Amino acid sequence: MNSRRNNPKKQRCSSEQRSSLTIELVPAFSWQRNVRAVVASNTWEGLRWYFGATQFPPPDLSIVFPDRPFISKLKCAYCETEQKKLDLHEEWQYDDSRQIQRLVDLRPICSKCHLTKHMGYANTIGRADEALQHLSKVNCWTKRQAKAHSDRAFAVWEARAFTRYTLDLNYLQRYIPSTKIHLNWLESPRTWVGSRLDAILWANRLLDSDAIIMDTETTGLLSKPDVEVIELAAIDMKGGASITVYVSLFTKFRKRL
Ligand SMILES: [Zn+2]
Repeated sequence: MNSRRNNPKKQRCSSEQRSSLTIELVPAFSWQRNVRAVVASNTWEGLRWYFGATQFPPPDLSIVFPDRPFISKLKCAYCETEQKKLDLHEEWQYDDSRQIQRLVDLRPICSKCHLTKHMGYANTIGRADEALQHLSKVNCWTKRQAKAHSDRAFAVWEARAFTRYTLDLNYLQRYIPSTKIHLNWLESPRTWVGSRLDAILWANRLLDSDAIIMDTETTGLLSKPDVEVIELAAIDMKGGASITVYVSLFTKFRKRL
């Protein structure tokens, strides 16, 4: 039997040498300014279903999408890995001169490709090497090629660090009514969730300079009901943690009535 037919990825590497996976670093201003932020959760789940990231639509979906054929196996659009559930990745184009960030596609994506797309996040959680390896594997690149691509992506991200982009979500209107797209939600006060990326964005806006910031958060290490573990970290402006310590507080606070 033809071995190339048995292994489509190998065939793709040896014959086409194409690059299907790229790193896409969202500019700092646009973190959390995305499709998910402006649609209701059931609409987002409907989009995930329509674009092939889940098998079935949410039960409370109130939008009629265009016909979608049944998909028996969910496949990553970038590396063709099959997963029972996939993420949905937003692809953007940037018009830097007009400061417009335009949605151009929504594609189902596996966990490894998604980690690679968001290499900045991979850095913050110590998985950059794994993401670079995946980038090399999917694109049939050498380590050096993958690293060069990553460096270019970070250079572009840094060049866009202080640009305030306007979102262009016209693409969505092919699939959902404009009444279901709530751009005004972007201007609502956002709940502080305390992630490192939030902290970096806050520092960028506030200081407009290089800085090291302290990030604190409680962890899930609650082995005893009266002990809370807190993580303290010093973070540079790319999200790299130079110090991370965990502190246990033994003070028992009274419950508020
Ligand atoms: Zn993938």
